[in-house]
Amino acid sequence: MADIFVVIEHRLGELREISLQMLTKADELGRKLSAGVTAVLLAGPEDGFENEIAVRADRLIVCRHDRLKNYDSDWSKELLSRIIAEHQPFLTLIGHTPWGLDLAPALAVKTGRPLATDCLEIAVTDGRPEVIRQIYGGKMFSRIAFQEAPGYLIMVRPGAFPAEQIQRGPAQVVKLEVPSDLAPSRREVFEYVDSSAGEVDITQAELLVSIGRGVGDEENILLVKELADLMGGTLSCSRPVVDKHWLSKAHQVGTSGKSVKPKVYLALGISGAFQHLAGIGGAGVVLAVNKDDKAPIFRRADYGAVADLFEVIEALKEKLKG
Ligand SMILES: Cc1cc2nc3c(=O)[nH]c(=O)nc-3n(C[C@H](O)[C@H](O)[C@H](O)COP(=O)(O)OP(=O)(O)OC[C@H]3O[C@@H](n4cnc5c(N)ncnc54)[C@H](O)[C@@H]3O)c2cc1C
Repeated sequence: MADIFVVIEHRLGELREISLQMLTKADELGRKLSAGVTAVLLAGPEDGFENEIAVRADRLIVCRHDRLKNYDSDWSKELLSRIIAEHQPFLTLIGHTPWGLDLAPALAVKTGRPLATDCLEIAVTDGRPEVIRQIYGGKMFSRIAFQEAPGYLIMVRPGAFPAEQIQRGPAQVVKLEVPSDLAPSRREVFEYVDSSAGEVDITQAELLVSIGRGVGDEENILLVKELADLMGGTLSCSRPVVDKHWLSKAHQVGTSGKSVKPKVYLALGISGAFQHLAGIGGAGVVLAVNKDDKAPIFRRADYGAVADLFEVIEALKEKLKG
């Protein structure tokens, strides 16, 4: 079987977690299908992380140029469509990220390959991929099968797969020069401005203490923040907390917020609407505190307390301080 390709994503000189997650999934599929795993890296001349990738793939196709230090939309589409046309991979995995959302649809058009976006699971049945996607804002799952095609493009939702310490390589490194006939890029990156600069990155937190409308009032957030600090956790929240401007958008978990994958997720006064639960699919242990024993969060929680959240916060603080 032809290889599984993983398009490596990086930013500001750092490998993005999604790259390692896709390499982990590619490794699993590769073992099942007896297919090789090829990582494709478009990067700047000085960018490192080649070794980190090489242990996780059988082959690393790498093209380096000053212009590729930052994501270059025109060049990436052109280079990757040529690489796909030449190597004819069975599957090409691309992150369902802002970077991937610019890249993948254009690649589908250029290569004539079918594309499935925002996939949470990938299997191969009778030589064709089948993927699982969430629809209706996470209320339902749909299974998508592809018609026969020379190869398939699949966008992977960040957090859908773990980033494991797999050992596949050392990869054979294939160096590509930028072709001389490549048209000049029409765009230039001047700088990255992080919308949440100086703020939390809840996607990387190992322990999230998350609050919902049940916290009642903005001033009560201080009590929860004290608990989060004592526990060494990070504060996150449901959408109403952001809508009320109690916490910034960077803290929001869910379909219109962030997908998170902490080891522990403590939900305080969150009902567990499906738009919220869609964001904690990758969480390890979920703990919920809610006054209402019928709150849907309890269906997702591993441990639950039907209680007033303020009483639980005080009891936890006592315990942690004592
Ligand atoms: C297109 C769309 C996108 C959306 N995206 C998101 C998203 O990304 N993230 C998100 O979270 N939501 C999202 N929502 C909103 C979602 O539908 C819910 O309205 C929201 O998640 C509810 O937030 P909540 O659980 O904090 O509030 P509520 O549903 O009001 O629940 C509050 C809970 O607190 C409990 N409670 C109250 N007081 C206490 C107390 N003292 N102690 C213990 N428990 C108490 C109550 O029993 C209740 O269960 C979206 C909605 C739409 C339409």
